[in-house]
Amino acid sequence: MPGAREILSAVSSLKVSPEFPGSKRDDEERRWQNGLATAIRDLPTLLQRLELPSEMALGADAATVDFPVLVPESYLRRILPRCPEDPLLQQVLPSVAEMISSEGFVSDPVGDTLARTAPGLLHKYRGRALLIAHGSCAVHCRYCFRRHFPYAQEPRSPDEWGPALAAIRNDDSLHEILLSGGDPLILSNRRLQFLFDALAEIPHLRRIRIHSRLPIVLPERLTSGLMRTLKSTRLRVVMVVHANHARELTGDCAAALEQLVNSGLMVLNQAVLLRGVNDSVDALAELCERCIDLGVQPYYLHQLDRVRGASHFEVPVFRGREFMRELRRRLPGYAVPRYVWEEPGGTSKMPLESPDHDPPALHQGTP
Ligand SMILES: *Cc1c(COP(=O)(O)O)cnc(C)c1O
Ligand code: SF4
Repeated sequence: MPGAREILSAVSSLKVSPEFPGSKRDDEERRWQNGLATAIRDLPTLLQRLELPSEMALGADAATVDFPVLVPESYLRRILPRCPEDPLLQQVLPSVAEMISSEGFVSDPVGDTLARTAPGLLHKYRGRALLIAHGSCAVHCRYCFRRHFPYAQEPRSPDEWGPALAAIRNDDSLHEILLSGGDPLILSNRRLQFLFDALAEIPHLRRIRIHSRLPIVLPERLTSGLMRTLKSTRLRVVMVVHANHARELTGDCAAALEQLVNSGLMVLNQAVLLRGVNDSVDALAELCERCIDLGVQPYYLHQLDRVRGASHFEVPVFRGREFMRELRRRLPGYAVPRYVWEEPGGTSKMPLESPDHDPPALHQGTP
């Protein structure tokens, strides 16, 4: 069994350059990377492609300086044109409201910087730790709680993961590693395979969990190479995707999810409760049923993390509780997600459904 030092030296001898010059990527790999390269990256183009008035960029453009527009073509195809209120568009459309500062909305709402135990490793809960496998995403969600996270300081390649892998190896209380980010599926198959192999060698680990929005926004990422990697390991692989509205789960995204489910992986969905996107019982019920149709288990419905620039997306907790009560009436128990909030410093995600848990830091609203 290799020790931390052996892994570290194996890691540092890999010396993979960022662009893999001369390496042969298969067509599929080229296809999704091209999908990422050709994603829409500016507001005027986004408006023009959706046949929306260019004046909608006025003021909103300022919000893109720190957090640019990013929308892949596949996701764009699922947005209704000429519809400023479209719930898919709302998730990616910069708004002047992002420039308004609101009390309680901060840059690190979930205490990530305090939970960092090695470069790229966040250890908050017992038995599981989160590895920021890559800082980038294939889409920029305007409500993102990590929109101010200093990703540039985190590792993203094999020779930089050494300290995090050593920390995981040295802590045998860990049974599960979450690959997150950013988005871990931004990694090439080759780097992902490297991570999978390194983790599988750590004897106390049992599971790898991937938290990714790519199956939703860039479904071409689910290449046969990726499917091979996901099945190549002794570890149980759990895939947690992130969709907030039923219409995201259509077209090539539905086909990609079916492929994941059919391969035998456990596939879960987490959603964020968002004003203007899914803040109605109908929208939430349809999202849950659509997940179940595809074999995807609704996992969490997150109360919005109070990140600076996202206050216009917040739905008060009492409304969320009303939605949950009604979802329980309408849906089979297995289709109802857990309504939770991430309390900074908490030992797990905090259940919000019962009024016994009333996080004082959260806006409750008045019923
Ligand atoms: C949310 C989160 C987890 C996973 O929590 P589960 O309740 O197991 O889904 C693990 N680590 C960190 C740092 C998290 O933020
Ligand atoms: S994909 Fe996830 S991490 Fe990336 S911007 Fe969206 S919510 Fe944030």
